Amino acid sequence: MSEATQFRTTTRHMLKESKEYASQTLMGGLSGFESPIGLDRRDRIKALRSGDVGFVHSWDINTSVDGPGTRMTVFMSGCPLRCQYCQNPDTWKMRDGQPVYLDAMIKKVDRYKDLFKATGGGITFSGGESMMQPAFVSRVFHAAKEMGVHTCLDTSGFLNANYTDEMIDDIDLCLLDVKSGNEETYKKVTGGTLAPTIEFGHRLRDRGKKIWVRFVLVPGLTDSEENVDEVARICKSFGDSLEHVDVLGFHQLGRPKWHELRIPYPLENQKGPSAKLRERVANQFKDYGLTVY
Ligand code: SF4
Repeated sequence: MSEATQFRTTTRHMLKESKEYASQTLMGGLSGFESPIGLDRRDRIKALRSGDVGFVHSWDINTSVDGPGTRMTVFMSGCPLRCQYCQNPDTWKMRDGQPVYLDAMIKKVDRYKDLFKATGGGITFSGGESMMQPAFVSRVFHAAKEMGVHTCLDTSGFLNANYTDEMIDDIDLCLLDVKSGNEETYKKVTGGTLAPTIEFGHRLRDRGKKIWVRFVLVPGLTDSEENVDEVARICKSFGDSLEHVDVLGFHQLGRPKWHELRIPYPLENQKGPSAKLRERVANQFKDYGLTVY
C-alpha cells in the first residue's frame, strides 16, 4: 500500500468467528475506510473466507471507464496471473493491500447510491484479480443489489472455480479480459490457462449476464491473425450476453511501476500497435458480426 496511507485508531470491532481487533480509519488512498489493526495470519485467512474483511489496493470514483455511468471502482489486492503487459504489478500480492471491513465498504456504496442511480452507474470491483476474494466481493455485490445499485466485475475469469452460480446472480455486467485466443499464447502472455475464462463467460451467458470483452493488442505477442480470430470466436460463443469488444492498444504507462518494484519488465522496449494494425484487428472482429470499440 502507498506510503501516503495513514490511519487513526477509532473503535474496536469483532470479526465473525474471530477475536476482537482495534480498528483504524484509513487516510490517503483509502480515506475513510474502517480497517482492523494487527490481524494475524490465521484471522486473515478466516476473514478472507467469510468476506468480513477485504484486502484493498485503492479505490476511486470515475465516469465511463469501468462500466456505465459514474462508478465507484475498488481495486482489490492479489492476482494469480503475471501478464507481461500488466499496468498494476503493485496489486499482485494480497498481503500488500489494506484490510477493509465489509461493513465499511457497504456503507461507502450506500453513501454514493443516489449518484449511481442518477448517472446509471454503480460499483465495479477490479484489481489485481477481483475473483481472488470472492466472499468479500460477492457480499458487497449482494448488498448493492439490495440497494438497487448496478454491479460490475472486472476480471480475467481465471478463478472461475471460486465463483458459485449464486454469486454470479448478483453481477449485472462483467468486464471480461480475453487475453488471448489459444492456450499457448495465453500461457506466454499471462503464465496461466485460458479455459477458465471461457468457462466463466459461458456461465455468465447461461445466467443472462451482460459481458464487455477486453482484449489487449500487443504487436508481436497477441496480434497474429490466427490469435485474433480465435479471440473473436470465443467472443461469439458468449452469444447475446456480449455487448461489445474493447480492443485496447498496448502502451507503456505501467513501466515505471515495474521499475519501482524492481521486477524485470519483459516489454521494456515494446511499441504500441499502429493505426493500420488496430484497423486490421477491428475488422477481424467485425467480420464475426461483433461490435468493436
Ligand atoms: S490479470 Fe490484471 S492485474 Fe493480474 S497480472 Fe494480468 S493485467 Fe496484471
